[in-house]
Amino acid sequence: MQKFGKLVLGIAICFWILPVMAKPYPKEDVLPDQLVMATLWHQTAAEYRAIAYQTFNLARVMLDMELQKQTAKQKAIVLDLDETLLDNSPYQAMVVIKQTGYPHGWFEWIDAAQAGAIPGAVEFLKYADAKGVAIIYLSNRKITKDRKIPGMQNTLKNMRALGFPQADESHMYLRNASSSKQSRRDEIATKFDIIMLFGDNLNDHDVIFEHKGVAERLAAVDANQKEFGHRYFVLPNAMYGEWEGAVYDYQWRKSTAEKSQMRKAALNAWEPKQ
Ligand SMILES: [Mg+2]
Repeated sequence: MQKFGKLVLGIAICFWILPVMAKPYPKEDVLPDQLVMATLWHQTAAEYRAIAYQTFNLARVMLDMELQKQTAKQKAIVLDLDETLLDNSPYQAMVVIKQTGYPHGWFEWIDAAQAGAIPGAVEFLKYADAKGVAIIYLSNRKITKDRKIPGMQNTLKNMRALGFPQADESHMYLRNASSSKQSRRDEIATKFDIIMLFGDNLNDHDVIFEHKGVAERLAAVDANQKEFGHRYFVLPNAMYGEWEGAVYDYQWRKSTAEKSQMRKAALNAWEPKQ
């Protein structure tokens, strides 16, 4: 019996304990682990908070300037929700801790209605509301057949609890058949004069940024430099976004190992001399 015990222990050391010690990061864990620093930055860096305040402070100054101008229709500002007004970093942190990935748990997170507000967002929108500006929430949160009511209602419940003004169905444009926001922006523009757009993803601002490679996205931003801080306002999102898709050439179905390799291949690294 004692011999049998030693044999089992030996097998365990050879086939389980030693491999685990030698390989602390199993291949399938690489991507969630790579999310640690980005999520930490969103949750702990005072610099992140400062950038959010900076964005909404500047937006307020620019709004005051826009309000001096005459427009044919009611003025509107158009804002994305996730990582622009709503902080979903606790969902991302769950992804890290549970070693999983989007969309695992995403609908449950929406229905839990526990997202926080991006710093400065509620104050800015209350100011815009008081000035008679229409506030249009333009999000790619999905309305699927079976989730239409909970998805919409729990998003609104979350936003109202945080104090966001004009948070009702008439001001909410959730995802339709297209993930592009252009058709919804066009529809909004028939009713309002859009004076500012806010997002953490350039697709929130204009169709010209959509589905482009890394170099093309950078060039499109350079070509539109003057719009930023005037008509376009961007919140940082280091956790996810179109920028990540661009790194993969939008081949989202690539394996974990391939994605990890593509991430490293996209780095512009200095090569020190010997
Ligand atoms: Mg977003």
